[in-house]
Amino acid sequence: MQTKSKLLFIVTLMLLAIGGVTIINISLNFRDYSIKSAQEKATMTAAIVKDGLTAHMVNGIMDKRQYFLDQISHNHDDVKALWLVRSDNVIKQFGEGFNSETVRDSLDKKVLNSGKMIQEITESADKIVLRVTIPYKATITGGGTNCLSCHDVQRGDTLGAISMEFDITSMRNAGLLTIFKILALNLLFIVIVLILINHYVTPYMKLFANMQEGITKAYSGDFTHEFETSVGGDAKNIVLQMNTLFQKMQSTFGNIKYNLSTFIPQGCVSTADPLNEAKTIIGELSDIYKFKKTIELDATKEIVYSRVVDILKNKYSLSDFSIYEVDTNTSQRKLIYISKGNESICEKSVDDNAMLCRAHRTKMDVISTEFVNLCQTCTENDQQYICIPFNINDENALIISIVTTNKEEINRINAHIPSIKNYLEAAKPVIESRILMAKLRDTSLRDGMTGLYNRRFLEEFIETIVKQAVRKNETYSVMMLDVDFFKMVNDTYGHDVGDKVIIELAKVLRESIREADLAIRYGGEEFVIMLHNATDDGTLIVAKKIHSAFANLKFTVGNGEILQKTISIGIAKFPTDGDTLWKCIKYADTALYVAKTTGRDKIVTYTPDMSESDTVR
Ligand code: GH3
Ligand code: MG
Ligand code: MG
Repeated sequence: MQTKSKLLFIVTLMLLAIGGVTIINISLNFRDYSIKSAQEKATMTAAIVKDGLTAHMVNGIMDKRQYFLDQISHNHDDVKALWLVRSDNVIKQFGEGFNSETVRDSLDKKVLNSGKMIQEITESADKIVLRVTIPYKATITGGGTNCLSCHDVQRGDTLGAISMEFDITSMRNAGLLTIFKILALNLLFIVIVLILINHYVTPYMKLFANMQEGITKAYSGDFTHEFETSVGGDAKNIVLQMNTLFQKMQSTFGNIKYNLSTFIPQGCVSTADPLNEAKTIIGELSDIYKFKKTIELDATKEIVYSRVVDILKNKYSLSDFSIYEVDTNTSQRKLIYISKGNESICEKSVDDNAMLCRAHRTKMDVISTEFVNLCQTCTENDQQYICIPFNINDENALIISIVTTNKEEINRINAHIPSIKNYLEAAKPVIESRILMAKLRDTSLRDGMTGLYNRRFLEEFIETIVKQAVRKNETYSVMMLDVDFFKMVNDTYGHDVGDKVIIELAKVLRESIREADLAIRYGGEEFVIMLHNATDDGTLIVAKKIHSAFANLKFTVGNGEILQKTISIGIAKFPTDGDTLWKCIKYADTALYVAKTTGRDKIVTYTPDMSESDTVR
């Protein structure tokens, strides 16, 4: 509409300018023409008066001239005044005349002196007067008129003048009326032109406005606009083509967006613009694809977790967060990662019972801004937090806990949650497979009956353990255990009872050592214990604890009889007794042999002389 007003304004201005120039031109011409025609009339009248007076003079009726002059004045309305002026010569010779024909004003004087005709226009608001003064000169003509015969003057001298005033106001008024008529016609023309322009241009203007609206919407990704016009012909065709194009665009982008979004189940930062959204989704897909390709080559879930940490730090600029892994069978929660210098915002009890974690229990994101003290086990009052639960499989789940002091930051993070979940979703199958692989590996390294590590584990990891121990200056106390007269249990009570004894012994071992220690089923009823960084006294205390705990175990056998068994233990120390763990295991076995051969049910610590003795097996 603005364009239309502009167009109408410019056209009006142009027409007014053309009209104005025409009127000024016409009025100037008309004025010139009016004055010229009045002058001609005045000159003609003056000539008639001059000729008339000459005729009076020749006919000797000069005294009758007043009648002639009055007739001229009366019969010509526009002649307002008419008087005769005698020159000084004539006055001197014939007097002033009966009507005091003397100089009346400076103009008369000028004409008498110069002998030239003068015309002058006097214009006021209500009147326009043309003054004409014509000189009367002494002549000798072939027609018999000889002024010099009566006048004592030279030929060519000015005898007098005829002065007349013409009222040409009516001419001016006629001119003004004409100008007004032209002006009115002009204005009428302008109005008609504007009405026509308005009539023919308005539909185009509406079409432009409609197109502009559609294109503005399309710019922000909305192709639902329907173009319309009342104009036929080409404009109608353009509108139809635009509508077809927009419908195509809308359905194509809608399809692209729908198809792309199926790749990322959690969606990502959404906008109303399908083009922009498609771009964001493709960017997200590409990033996730690269992430997935990378983690697929990672050997352990720990490395995958470290990639997730990198993504959270670098892509989402998170500086304060922690990741927990939950064993859903035991509800144990384990800290995987926490940002440097931070502490968990959860109560300690959550580690032993993950169901106390609101996010894990409800399987819903917990955002602190939603409710005061939303999570009952959160120890922080000043910090804002978002806790995101994520299930890996039936047995494992993750919790990502993000902390910030800034409320606006929490909104920013909140907007990224779907995107973060897309990464977790991509990592999920890889983490799951790494957990499975680790489990399989663990199974092959463990003894099925007791759940303790087996001899294969020792063979595979002993090198790594030694290297690490040497590098960190660590020690291992190696114990070799064997049940005394175990064969007899099998022979007397059967293998089932024998198995039970082995299982119970394994339980005693597990309960007697710390997390950093290792318990290995070395053979049938032979076990190796490796105590990490234990003193000699400490080692002996553990050995005694195991020894007595097992001795106190009571097994009820078939006929209600109670069976009690003992064990013998041999101890050697790495690296004091041997520079490899294998050597130390061998020395512990030597000490065990000594225990067996010197009465059983005892603990024997290895001494080098045992290796030299004959009793060594
Ligand atoms: P010693 O006091 O000298 O150790 O006498 P022992 O009878 O215990 O002799 P040894 O240690 O040689 O006996 C090992 C026996 O343990 C032999 C084997 O039948 C039995 N055995 C090994 N593995 C298992 C097992 O998994 N279950 C059962 N029930 N018996 C086993
Ligand atoms: Mg034995
Ligand atoms: Mg044995």
